[in-house]
Amino acid sequence: MLPDSRRQLVVFLSEHKGVNALPAVISIFDTTAVERLRRSLRLDPERVRVLRNRLLKKFESDDDGLLGFPGRDQLQLHVLEQFRRVDSSIDGASKLLLKTATGMLIEAVILRIASGRTTLCVSSQVGCAASCEFCATGKMGIAQNLSSAEILDQVLQVGQLLAREERRLDNIVFMGMGEPFHNEDNLNDALTVLTSPQLFARSPKSILVSTVGVPDAMVRCAERFPSVNLALSLHSVKAETRLKLIPLTQRHSLGDLRHAIREINRVQQHELMIEYLMLAGQNDSIDDADDLIRWLDGVNVHVNLIPYNPIEDAPHLLGSDRDTIDRFAVQLKGSGLKTTIRYSLGNDIAAACGQLVQKENRKRNGVH
Ligand code: SF4
Repeated sequence: MLPDSRRQLVVFLSEHKGVNALPAVISIFDTTAVERLRRSLRLDPERVRVLRNRLLKKFESDDDGLLGFPGRDQLQLHVLEQFRRVDSSIDGASKLLLKTATGMLIEAVILRIASGRTTLCVSSQVGCAASCEFCATGKMGIAQNLSSAEILDQVLQVGQLLAREERRLDNIVFMGMGEPFHNEDNLNDALTVLTSPQLFARSPKSILVSTVGVPDAMVRCAERFPSVNLALSLHSVKAETRLKLIPLTQRHSLGDLRHAIREINRVQQHELMIEYLMLAGQNDSIDDADDLIRWLDGVNVHVNLIPYNPIEDAPHLLGSDRDTIDRFAVQLKGSGLKTTIRYSLGNDIAAACGQLVQKENRKRNGVH
């Protein structure tokens, strides 16, 4: 134990010079640092509450949100720079290419659905190690995890963009670049900030985390955030086909995944979403549907069939035609499985995961 005089000295040094000194810039999402800034400026907590309400709940512009806040020069709102915006000419999709501080590009996709609702698809990594056969991001390999601030800034920037259009951001889905559960700590931090009543105050029911299947992490997420929705990209219940489509599958067996779904059903009240990409001749036969029906027997799920957008790097993969998708859906529904077909937006702007970043990287490297 240190004598009192030494202890006071340590406290003094840490408060004024040492490890606890305020950093030069403080992220708006860092609650501990913002609280220390508030104390150092002797501000009423109400000032911080108003600041957060304006920026994170109402998505006011940076200038309006920071108006009159004494510590504004020390606060950092954005860690991503807008590099390019592409708007669909046929529907309500927009894609933002955003640049990290290290110069890497990521995508955030805005879907403005005809009903008036809006969804933001966020990225959790630059590139992805899952290497899915059908995905442009998977062809890039893994580059780096996004920090929680980089995940949250996608929400802030898109929220502000939609507010300028007098729209609200309704849903947030982790379906962009990356496997969210390969960046589990930062995903957890981001979900905590998004659902915190003092910060973004989003309903956990309006958030969906989509994974190709990391069973233990899926269960941990359900236990920690029981109202957040989970989606499993299943795509096939034939081990060989699934392994071909999702090489990551070699680490996690279909049996482990089914066990995880049962555990998640035990923790969560709502059904888990099963995403099933419809690929011609790969996973769309009557047999495939029968196998899927058997595999899903006894679990609480909702199957979402997804028409496939072809990518340049996988010319051998084609989407199933509409009749096949309809027949597959009828077969699943006939067995009592809740089944929907997802309507894809943004086909003209390469809205599927990673395609625009890949095009941009090719342009930057002189490859077309
Ligand atoms: S589909 Fe998702 S998990 Fe698979 S490679 Fe693409 S980003 Fe990664």
